[in-house]
Amino acid sequence: MALVVGITGGIGSGKSAVTDRFENRGITVVDADRVARVVVEPGSPALQKIAQHFGADILQTDGYLDRAALRQRVFSNDADRQWLEQLTHPLIGMEILAQVERSESPYTLLSSPLLLDTSQKALVDYVVVVDAPEAHQLARTMQRDANDEAQVKRIMAAQMPRKDRLALADTIIDNSGSLEQLDEKVEALHRDFLHRVNSQD
Ligand code: ADP
Repeated sequence: MALVVGITGGIGSGKSAVTDRFENRGITVVDADRVARVVVEPGSPALQKIAQHFGADILQTDGYLDRAALRQRVFSNDADRQWLEQLTHPLIGMEILAQVERSESPYTLLSSPLLLDTSQKALVDYVVVVDAPEAHQLARTMQRDANDEAQVKRIMAAQMPRKDRLALADTIIDNSGSLEQLDEKVEALHRDFLHRVNSQD
């Protein structure tokens, strides 16, 4: 199979800013967060099982999963979290694989905040970690989501520690500078991946 590059990073590190720039260069980006929503859409077998397990009040009135309510339920209950992960992770993995296989670009990106925490890492040949100082992560996320500092800090604390994530990277994109600098870094990496793909032929 063609080259699959995984992209991950903590909240507000700049994953979307990076993947947007690869997309602008014609590269297919499979977004694990989007896939995670698709596998529990109304009418899906997984959503039916979730509603049976947690009760119908885990659904919104429009029939979609109440993701905030579910997060709260599993946050405080390890057994429920494991049950949910055992249901959804294989489905997410299969759908990611299907989307990767449909990709027609020279190589494919898999963008996932949980790339290194799940079996998703087995789907990629190469790991790119987008990294920014924690103060930048905090400030950029607060500006993007209008979240307060405590909320963003809680999310950051629940994610893999920065140094563990960096230790698992094949390449680190340092996003402590401007968006122009980020674009140059993406360009260099894009050329490098194209070169790898072309020298494999
Ligand atoms: P992630 O997808 O990792 O959560 P985003 O790519 O959404 O992070 O970036 C978080 C916010 O910071 C976004 O609003 C984005 O436009 C902004 N941002 C990202 N990188 C930079 C940068 N180098 N300079 C300024 N703003 C940035």
